[in-house]
Amino acid sequence: MHARPHLLRHWLLLVSMLLLSSACSREAPLHQHTFLGFGTLIEVSLYGTDATTAQRAMAAVEAEFELMHSVWHPWQPGSLGRVNTLLATGEWFSSPSSVLPLLVRARQLSQQSNHLFNPAIGKLVRLWGFDQGERADGPPPPADEIRRLVAAMPRMSDLDIEGIRLRSRNPAVTLDLGAFAKGYGIDLAIDLLREMGIDNAIVNAGGDLRAIGRHGERPWRIGIRNPHKPGVVAAVELGADESIFTSGDYERNFTHAGRRYHHIIDPRTGYPASASASVTVIHTDAATADAAATALFVAGPERWHETARAMGIKYVLLIDTEGNAYMNPAMQQRIHLEQPPQNIFISEPL
Ligand code: AMP
Ligand code: MG
Repeated sequence: MHARPHLLRHWLLLVSMLLLSSACSREAPLHQHTFLGFGTLIEVSLYGTDATTAQRAMAAVEAEFELMHSVWHPWQPGSLGRVNTLLATGEWFSSPSSVLPLLVRARQLSQQSNHLFNPAIGKLVRLWGFDQGERADGPPPPADEIRRLVAAMPRMSDLDIEGIRLRSRNPAVTLDLGAFAKGYGIDLAIDLLREMGIDNAIVNAGGDLRAIGRHGERPWRIGIRNPHKPGVVAAVELGADESIFTSGDYERNFTHAGRRYHHIIDPRTGYPASASASVTVIHTDAATADAAATALFVAGPERWHETARAMGIKYVLLIDTEGNAYMNPAMQQRIHLEQPPQNIFISEPL
């Protein structure tokens, strides 16, 4: 097509909330507040709310994210850290209430994804060094260690849950909720806003977001931008309650001997999933959208469609490492491409 190949290679999507229509807010005010949470920038936008309510709501959401971050960290001393220590014993224990609902949800989504979304691979994630945010360049982990962890087959289905009691039948299970907690947290934040009587809002964590209500007379309009240069490559309008999440190979990675290794691990091989560059999913709730974006990234061009069906996902855009775009017809209908990919493959309907 017309664009130069190196640009196409960079046609990786980072969904970013660009409030395309927010500049001309002659009507009710738009309140925005940005803070650090989950190791990323979180932006809360409220439309049509008075200043006092907006301030109270922003403070509540920020406090909620701070709490979630400390509770769900897989290694630091906190609830999930403690759960991981106890899972390794194989004994029953009482799970903290801050963690249990996440595990139930994550287990269900993991099974739907045929274990491509697999939060039980915490040991692999840690071996690769992606548990601490950015990783310095250096060699990948030794192949035999990777093989050993893959052979132990840690899975969410190894967890027994009875009431609040929890145990793992497989000592290899270590939980890492990095592919899912952000979505789950955004859902909790939206619940909190709704309880405060707020109907029109976006909670955006580093480009992954959930929107409720409308922006005045218009729906929320979201720009999908190229992360490597300014500009919107596609735009999409979100319905009254929708989330849009992207998993991309550009988010966290390191280079060794001219090869780039990124943070989304294929649980079947123990290595970074190799075929996808980014996957964008639109779904109602953010937790499902987050888990699905990761699962479909691992599934790649060959298996994204069957995995989306199994997870009940209706809108997908996958860009492979060659710059080809894959999407279902319903996604094609609502997305406005502004920078053409190498080739576009439209699938069967989902
Ligand atoms: P995301 O950006 O939502 O796709 O999540 C990626 C993060 O989830 C990584 O940084 C790891 O912490 C973790 N992770 C990596 N691979 C997987 C996988 N196959 N299933 C579940 N979590 C994963
Ligand atoms: Mg995810």
